[in-house]
Amino acid sequence: MDLTTTDKTLIAEAWTSRDLYVNLEALCDFGSRFAGTPSEIQARDFIAEKLRAYGLTDVRLDPFEYLGWWRGKCALQVVAPTPRAYDAISLVYSPSTPAGGLRAPIVDVGMGTEKEYARKKDSLKGKIVLCSSANPEEGRAPHRREKYGWAVDAGAIGFIYMRHLPGGLPETGSLRAGRLGEIPAVAVSYETGAALKRSAEKGDTIVVLDAHIESHPTTAWHVVGEVPGQTSELIVVGAHYDGHDISQGAGDDATGTCLVLELARLFAPLRGQLRRTIRVMAFACEELGVLGSTEYVKKYRGEMKNIALMVNLDGAVGNGTKGFWYSGLEDIAALLKRIAKETGYALKLGEKVVTASDNFPFFMEGVPAIAMRAKDNDRALGRGFGHTPMDTLDKVSERDMKECAMVAARVLLHLAADADSLGRHRKPEEIKEILIAQELEDGLRAQNKWPFK
Ligand SMILES: [Zn+2]
Repeated sequence: MDLTTTDKTLIAEAWTSRDLYVNLEALCDFGSRFAGTPSEIQARDFIAEKLRAYGLTDVRLDPFEYLGWWRGKCALQVVAPTPRAYDAISLVYSPSTPAGGLRAPIVDVGMGTEKEYARKKDSLKGKIVLCSSANPEEGRAPHRREKYGWAVDAGAIGFIYMRHLPGGLPETGSLRAGRLGEIPAVAVSYETGAALKRSAEKGDTIVVLDAHIESHPTTAWHVVGEVPGQTSELIVVGAHYDGHDISQGAGDDATGTCLVLELARLFAPLRGQLRRTIRVMAFACEELGVLGSTEYVKKYRGEMKNIALMVNLDGAVGNGTKGFWYSGLEDIAALLKRIAKETGYALKLGEKVVTASDNFPFFMEGVPAIAMRAKDNDRALGRGFGHTPMDTLDKVSERDMKECAMVAARVLLHLAADADSLGRHRKPEEIKEILIAQELEDGLRAQNKWPFK
């Protein structure tokens, strides 16, 4: 097969077709696709149907059991010094508050970095922590699940997560992976958080949280299909199709799912022509603490040795220079640099291990795993509209999507066709070293995601 000719065909097809955006409209129209909702099922069936229509092989649903979570009523009241009611929503996997509500003083931990928690450690026992989604301009940005974990460790009995951007939006997200958190947790807007902060500064501020949720075991499904290559060596390309229940989840992550569908469409005609088999995956339950892909890796542990590379497309649509986070894997970085040179596209490479998405469970199993990036670094923006009710279709540009699909397709073509080995699988000891070098140990421990001694 002539790579250059195929490359041109892929680009022409990606640039001139509207499938990518039409699929995005469909996924966003179903609704949130949150785990355990009817829109999740609609999206599941839609994705499977598309993969079949595009001509993929062995299209299947891969089920797994997990603990479902559904939000109910939620109220936040300041009862002293000045009574006042505010809007709040439960964070995913928050337990319900006790009958009559959870009543305690609040303590502001600012951005909730490890240092700030250490400084306030002795004042948090029996209190409700008020913590912002902001992160320091420099250094590592702790994840919400870490901030929550530190609050639990410090003996707090409740957690209020305040968005750091104005606009009246609460920002949702999970607290633990696949299980209920230890203490109730709610999200509030920047404005509510600012009012609570001001009140807390003045002196003892007592709040009552009253939150109700429902939770029981249920089933979710990954959607999987294949473009067979000439060998059984696999490249897994995936993104999660679930969103958050308060939103369309357009940017996070209907766009990533549609990139996966687009790659399926573009590569299906190449079956039997490429060296490696491409396994296309739409992951379920990523928004439940990267639960779905974690379960998948556990279930197919014996198969991991056949996976040459895992490429995650979660959040891979944006208007910045496209590239990859290469997870501290130097051989993969060298490979991507070579592809950048061969394709004449200066991929933006970063060494970070992305811990809060579906590449991570594969990486932890020693499989080379990378995450695509397409946004320019803007620490101050955080998730943008992600995880808020305003993560909607209208924010996504069709042109950006096409550009991301084109870069992803060209890289995938080279990866699937390359005659050399893609990269070495790592031993647990080596994985541990990379994580320590990137100062990820404490944060992973706070999330109960550190498997090493
Ligand atoms: Zn995501």
